[in-house]
Amino acid sequence: MSAMDTTGASLPEEAIQYLQQKNIPDLMERLLHELIVKQPDEPLRFLAEVLAAPVVPKLIISGPPAAGKGTQCQLIAKHFGVVHISTGDLLRQLKEEGGKEGKEAAVYMEKGELVPDEIIVEIVRQRLCKEDVRNKGWLLDGFPRTRNQALAMQAAGLIPQLFVLLAVPDEVVIERIEGRRVDPVTRKVYHLTHNPPPQHDAEVLERLQQRADDTRDAVRRRLATYHRNCAEIVECYQCVSLELDGDRSPQEIFEDVSVSIKAKANLGPHAQ
Ligand code: AMP
Repeated sequence: MSAMDTTGASLPEEAIQYLQQKNIPDLMERLLHELIVKQPDEPLRFLAEVLAAPVVPKLIISGPPAAGKGTQCQLIAKHFGVVHISTGDLLRQLKEEGGKEGKEAAVYMEKGELVPDEIIVEIVRQRLCKEDVRNKGWLLDGFPRTRNQALAMQAAGLIPQLFVLLAVPDEVVIERIEGRRVDPVTRKVYHLTHNPPPQHDAEVLERLQQRADDTRDAVRRRLATYHRNCAEIVECYQCVSLELDGDRSPQEIFEDVSVSIKAKANLGPHAQ
């Protein structure tokens, strides 16, 4: 194999192997990206600082409702030490706290509609500024869900190294969601058939809840919204996207995800 540079000359085989093995194209892209976003007065000093800073994972996981994003995120967060940020969880937490933002968001959530971009973008922006995220990196789950959200992220210089799309057929989504039950105390998620709650624990069985937006009507609306926005979002992440069959066991999916995180983000377990 050989490659042509811009003058038309071929690069020697060893040079190509070196570039690939050391992830040089990704490195160059990262540096160029930082320069474009920050436009520093002293580019060389700025680049030296960027290179000295630790590389933390910046990841997005996407897919229809109940695609298994939450499960993959738990595995990824545990293995790579990255902070898992689920916008659905952030919104549910705000709703429980009873503030103005939470109450406003709840109206949309209960109908299975998207919360307006300006509300969710601000919530995510605030979360990504926190120190744990700066030190450990981020794994976004459920964001961006519209092209505007993706563009707002790009404008803020938040570019992922990897965008994972879990593809799951609609009928599987509906079956998964109708059987989904949540324990409000431990926040554990069960499925009545595939991952049943502990049958001997009457207390847990008693308190299990079905999410207000897990009804058949709400699910259909959420799926329709997902399909309407999906292509436009994927388009924003073409260079870093990885589509996986989400209708497999969590462990099988995680093996694929994990290989890509290591390759794309150039990271090992608990990389800091
Ligand atoms: P999820 O737990 O990810 O299924 O999200 C639950 C609900 O929260 C969604 O149906 C939306 O109403 C809202 N939500 C979560 N993430 C977003 C987002 N990125 N943009 C708008 N609404 C969102």
